[in-house]
Amino acid sequence: MSAKGVAVVTGGGSGIGRGVALTLAKAGYAVAIADLNEAAAREVAALAGPSARAIVADTAERDAVEALADAAEAMGPITVWVNCAGTAGLAPIVEITPEFYERIRRINQDGLFWGCAAAARRMIPRGQGVIVNISSNAADQPMPQLSVYAMTKAAANMLTRSLAMELGPHGIRVNCVAPGFIATPMTMAAHSPEERERILAANALRSPMGLTGTPEDIAGAVRYLVSDEARFVTGQTLRVNGGVSMP
Ligand code: NAD
Repeated sequence: MSAKGVAVVTGGGSGIGRGVALTLAKAGYAVAIADLNEAAAREVAALAGPSARAIVADTAERDAVEALADAAEAMGPITVWVNCAGTAGLAPIVEITPEFYERIRRINQDGLFWGCAAAARRMIPRGQGVIVNISSNAADQPMPQLSVYAMTKAAANMLTRSLAMELGPHGIRVNCVAPGFIATPMTMAAHSPEERERILAANALRSPMGLTGTPEDIAGAVRYLVSDEARFVTGQTLRVNGGVSMP
C-alpha cells in the first residue's frame, strides 16, 4: 500500500486524465484509473506502475461511482479524488436535443457531483482528503454553440466552492482546475492533421505567451493542489490556460 494513499482519477484513460494519473503515480500515489474505456484505462495503469489499477466505471451513474469508490478503497484509503471524466459537444441551442443535453449534463455535471459525494463519504471519517474537479475555461469565457458544456463547467466551479465550505471543517480541501485549450482526443480526434495544425496555431495566438498547453501542464497544477504545499488553498478555480483569460 502506498504511504500517500489512493488517488482516484476519473477519465484517467485519455488526455488530461491520463496525464494526471501518470503524474500522481510518479508522486507516490496508488492510482485508481477509472474510465468507461477499459483498454485505455489498462494501458495507463500499466504505465503508472504496479500499485496502479484500472477500474471500469460509468461515472455518470451514482451507483457505479459508489462501486468505483469501494473498489478503490480496496487498494487503500482514498486520499485524493480527481473528477476529470468529461465530454463536449458543439450545437446551436435551437438544435439541441434532449439526448445531446442529457449526455453532456450527466457526464460533466452529475458525474462530478456523485464523484465528490463518494469521495467525501470516505474522507470525512478520516478527517482528511483532497478533491480536484476539472472544469474549463468555458465556464467563464462564453463561446457560441457551447452552451451545455459551459453550463456544466460553471456548475463545477460553483460545486467546488460550495463543498470547500461544507467539507473544510472535516479537513477536506476542494479545488478546481480550469484548463484552456489542450490537444487531446476530445479536441483533436474529429480533425484532419492540417486542421489540427491550424487549431493549435490559432490557440497559441490567443495566449500572451504564444503557447498551447499539454495534459502535463494541467497535471502539474493538480499535483500542486493535492500536495501539502497547497494546505491553505481551498474553494479556488485555478485557470491553467497560458493567460488566454484572466479574471
Ligand atoms: P478525452 O476525451 O481525451 O478524455 C476523457 C476521458 O473520459 C476518456 O477516456 C473517456 O473514456 C472518459 N469518460 C467519458 N465519459 C465517461 C464516463 N461516463 N465514465 C467514465 N469515463 C468517462 O478528454 P480531455 O480533453 O482529456 O478532457 C478531460 C477533462 O478536461 C474533461 O472534463 C474536459 O471537459 C476537460 N477540459 C478539456 C479541455 C481540452 O481542451 N482538452 C479544456 C478544458 C477542460
